[in-house]
Amino acid sequence: MTRDDQGHFHEYRAVGREADIFENTLFSQLPGRDGIAQNRYSTEGPKEKDNTRDQGPFLSHTSLGEVAVAHNGNLTNARELRRKLSATGAIFATQTDTEVIQHLIARAEGSTLVDRLKRALPQLQGAYAFLFLSRRSEERLIAVQDPYAIRPLTIGHTREGVWYVASETCALDALGATGSRRDLRPGEMAIFGKDRVRFEQLPARERRFCIFEYIYFSCPDSVLEGDVSVYAARKRMGQYLAECYPVEADIVVPVPDSGVPAALGYAERSGIPYELGLIRSHHIGRTFIEPTKEQNDLALLLKHRASAAVLSGKRVVLVDDSIVKGNTSRKIIQKVRDAGAKEVHLRISSPPTTHSCFYGIDTPDRRKLIAAGRSVEEIAKLLGVNSLGYLTLEDVRRAIRGSSEQTKLLDRGYCDACFTGEYFHEAA
Ligand code: SF4
Repeated sequence: MTRDDQGHFHEYRAVGREADIFENTLFSQLPGRDGIAQNRYSTEGPKEKDNTRDQGPFLSHTSLGEVAVAHNGNLTNARELRRKLSATGAIFATQTDTEVIQHLIARAEGSTLVDRLKRALPQLQGAYAFLFLSRRSEERLIAVQDPYAIRPLTIGHTREGVWYVASETCALDALGATGSRRDLRPGEMAIFGKDRVRFEQLPARERRFCIFEYIYFSCPDSVLEGDVSVYAARKRMGQYLAECYPVEADIVVPVPDSGVPAALGYAERSGIPYELGLIRSHHIGRTFIEPTKEQNDLALLLKHRASAAVLSGKRVVLVDDSIVKGNTSRKIIQKVRDAGAKEVHLRISSPPTTHSCFYGIDTPDRRKLIAAGRSVEEIAKLLGVNSLGYLTLEDVRRAIRGSSEQTKLLDRGYCDACFTGEYFHEAA
């Protein structure tokens, strides 16, 4: 969604992969120097594949003019707020949690968007990294981080002075934003005016950055929290797995692509050769962004082939980042066995996922999680593996810290509720 120099908003939305959607002609349909984009399914509400109405960015018309918003995260009190707003006459056009913030802005007092956000944001609970596009030239674009900084939000600029805000640094790299960059702090707001950027600090809480960003969600070429390479952290997780769960085996095989860095680390530390025993096909057509990790994994499963030439007769260490319901893992393990593997030893570069996430990673109901209420031995039996090893939370944290002295000194508060059940505010 863009805003042109006359203040008109232009939007384009579609379902599918970026490569299929972002054709050159698209940009000529979206005039203007300022814009926001969202590559994400709805944070709450229906998950139908062809539902573009519930996809961000969302546009609303307020007494301050048009305001569009893109949202990464999940508001845990959205239903309660919707009920209250509906009771006082609000009409909702979508079923998403994000629409709530637009109603709160529309009703808040204040002559600027920043003033209204200061009144509206404290009513929200949960995770939000917001990007607002406004009609007002003195607040063209506003980026807001929630009080816990649960989801990543980074700002940076090109050497020519073009500013970008993105969830991950890999997007800044892709756009050539090689000037200075930094993450927004808990409760921080960046306001992009006519010729300058200013920052405001809203009430903040103890930092609770999502630790799962390091394990699965973020791209491996991103840098999180200012100085931690996701790739290097994942590789260290694999090294620690090799130390904690050694096994006599012939090859280390990653589940592509999520298990690749950890498998490289495991192979490096154990001295067992790294082999690509599972091949991800790049010749299968269009794949949709699936609303949940599990569905996404299942879609990817269709793209995976097990190579008998690599796996036949081998004792295999299979490395993946996490197990949610276990359906995908079971199918992959069966493929590896069908390709002739003699033994399969599964190594997971995170602790058992025992609780649901309510902060923007769409894990299923707790009862569907394979690790909820089961021992590691029981899970191994259900999955049909010879052995199973999970990384401890302490080792995940150690892998994130790495060896950087600076990293050790910084305040690194994490959310790890999907592994511990320790939610830090009302879960739903
Ligand atoms: Fe991240 Fe898990 Fe916390 Fe959700 S519950 S924010 S996935 S660490």
